[in-house]
Amino acid sequence: MKKFYNLAPGPTEVPPELLLASAKPTIHHRTKEFSQLFKSVSSSLKSIFKTQNDVYILVSSGTGAMEMAVANVLSASDKAYVIDAGKFGERWGQICKTYGVDTYIEKLEWGSCYDVSMLENYLSKNPDCRAVFTQLSESASASTLPIKEIAQITAKYPDCVLVVDAVSGLLAQDIRMDEWGVDVLLSGSQKALMLPPGLAFISFSPKAERANERSNLPKFYFDYKKYKKNLEKDTSPFTMAVNMIYALQWSLHRIDEEGGVDTILEKTQKYAEAFRAGVQAIGLKLLSSCPVNGLTAVVVPEGIDGKKLKEEFYTRFGITIAGGQDKYAGKIIRVAHMGYFAPSDVILALSALEMLLFDMGYKLELGKGVATAERLLYKGC
Ligand SMILES: *Cc1c(COP(=O)(O)O)cnc(C)c1O
Repeated sequence: MKKFYNLAPGPTEVPPELLLASAKPTIHHRTKEFSQLFKSVSSSLKSIFKTQNDVYILVSSGTGAMEMAVANVLSASDKAYVIDAGKFGERWGQICKTYGVDTYIEKLEWGSCYDVSMLENYLSKNPDCRAVFTQLSESASASTLPIKEIAQITAKYPDCVLVVDAVSGLLAQDIRMDEWGVDVLLSGSQKALMLPPGLAFISFSPKAERANERSNLPKFYFDYKKYKKNLEKDTSPFTMAVNMIYALQWSLHRIDEEGGVDTILEKTQKYAEAFRAGVQAIGLKLLSSCPVNGLTAVVVPEGIDGKKLKEEFYTRFGITIAGGQDKYAGKIIRVAHMGYFAPSDVILALSALEMLLFDMGYKLELGKGVATAERLLYKGC
């Protein structure tokens, strides 16, 4: 019997109960009833962002929120500093250039750790830089960036905002918008929030609001001021994806039931650590020296066809995982640990990986990776 599992780092597995929760009549988005629901989910999102600032809900994928950030805090020919640690960092550079921003791109080797002295150096020479763009979790290389340390530096520059893409990071890797001093924080629905694709979320600090006052880049759909004015009336400027809001309500409720953000972060970390130890126990290497918890990028061993490995996960075990992008196509596989995820998923992924590699001629002791992970997982399972 064919059985399917989604262990890809986005869109991640969606709980069937969440889909059922969204299968309700589509009430009109300009009603009192909808406004009440919208107000409650918008305000619950603040605790996930760890902020007192408002969190805006957008009908778009995560990239829409990235574009909104750029268009709302910068002006034409402003200087911006982009940390390009992979595909998504590269996207920051592309968006900035599209808007005519004077963009400096700090390109890192995929999987290497970011040294904040690079930013200190750049800003000391370019004190007129208006924004720093980065990721909490760079999904292409499964690496994390030191947001807290980066924020300590941008805090010294009153006109330079820190913009963090936490699409795959939020609810998988700790981020504290207010405590750390992140100015724009954004995320999407299809990663750790376990919703289908289609919504994005974004929040602006008072410093980012001041940047918005100065900003002259063109914007219409993603105009921050429109969202702000409408949220004051518990609504959105344009038609909201009503059924996705039911789904979001279910997700937020479930997150609470699971013990809240910090409990979920701890669990995700435990799953990631068990998976990483498991793959290392069978002699495999991680791509990243600064691994995130929401997903892991594993280097495919020499002589093994990585594209075939990824395909076989699906054809033989019904498991969807992700491969590598750009020069890492066929060289890495990426497996998620976030959102609707349980200890059994760690075991499933490792066990399939062992069997497939064994079949493809890689020398390993079957069960060694699984046993290593089990030893780390069994307590509190
Ligand atoms: C998934 C993801 C995005 C969003 O991509 P969309 O396809 O626009 O939803 C952005 N940044 C990171 C780090 C991601 O993992």
